[in-house]
Formats: sequence, C-alpha cells, structure tokens
Amino acid sequence: MLKKEAREITGGLSKPNKMPGPSINLPAVACITGAKLVKVQGSTCSGCYALKGRYRFQNVKDAMQRRLTRLHDPRWIDAMVTLINGRHWQKPEPVFRWHDSGDIQSVQGGTTPGTSKAYNI
Ligand code: SF4
Repeated sequence: MLKKEAREITGGLSKPNKMPGPSINLPAVACITGAKLVKVQGSTCSGCYALKGRYRFQNVKDAMQRRLTRLHDPRWIDAMVTLINGRHWQKPEPVFRWHDSGDIQSVQGGTTPGTSKAYNI
C-alpha cells in the first residue's frame, strides 16, 4: 500500500512536538472513560492535557475528528502498518506513540471488523 493511500485511510499521523516520533491522536472529548474521569478531581484524566493548548486549535481538532471517523475502515490496520513501518521518520531511532490524545474507543477500536487482525498497545 502506498503511504499516500494509507494517510487517506487513517487520516494521517500526528506529530506531537515534544515526542521524537509520530503518533496518532483522537479527540479527548471522545474518550469513553476519560470523558467521565476528566470531571473527577484527582483522577488520571482530571486536567487532561489534550483539552488544552494546541489541542484546541481548530485545525488540530479537525484532524483528530478526521482520524476518529476513519477508525472503522477495514483497511485501517494495514494502513497503520504502512505508516508505522515508513522509514522516513525513524530518526534517530524508531519511536511511535499510540494516542498522544484520546484513547481506544472499544474492543472494535483495536480490531478490524470482519478480520482476525488486531493491534496491540
Ligand atoms: S486524552 Fe488521555 S488524559 Fe485526556 S481524557 Fe482521554 S484518556 Fe484521559
């Protein structure tokens, strides 16, 4: 699969500026449990970083929403493999972070419907 096609299928990778490699993010407001915990003082998600700063820019919000809508594409896992295996970003060493914002949406969020494929985090 070409990287261009993989980017269209997944909505593309994110590039958190404090990380040495790319990531993929989803809107924090879509976190299944996090959206509840963010209201609980002292919980892991209270003061959620992904609801602040650059994550509030409209272009960032649009990109996260785009990635959220692409999760159920049956080609998503193959497309992510294509992007993660891309050598262009593996400098100085291969590092990839799952979800610099957002979280797994469901068991289906970690599998491709109709296949036995799954990703491990
Ligand atoms: S992005 Fe992370 S910290 Fe924020 S609500 Fe979701 S799981 Fe919690």
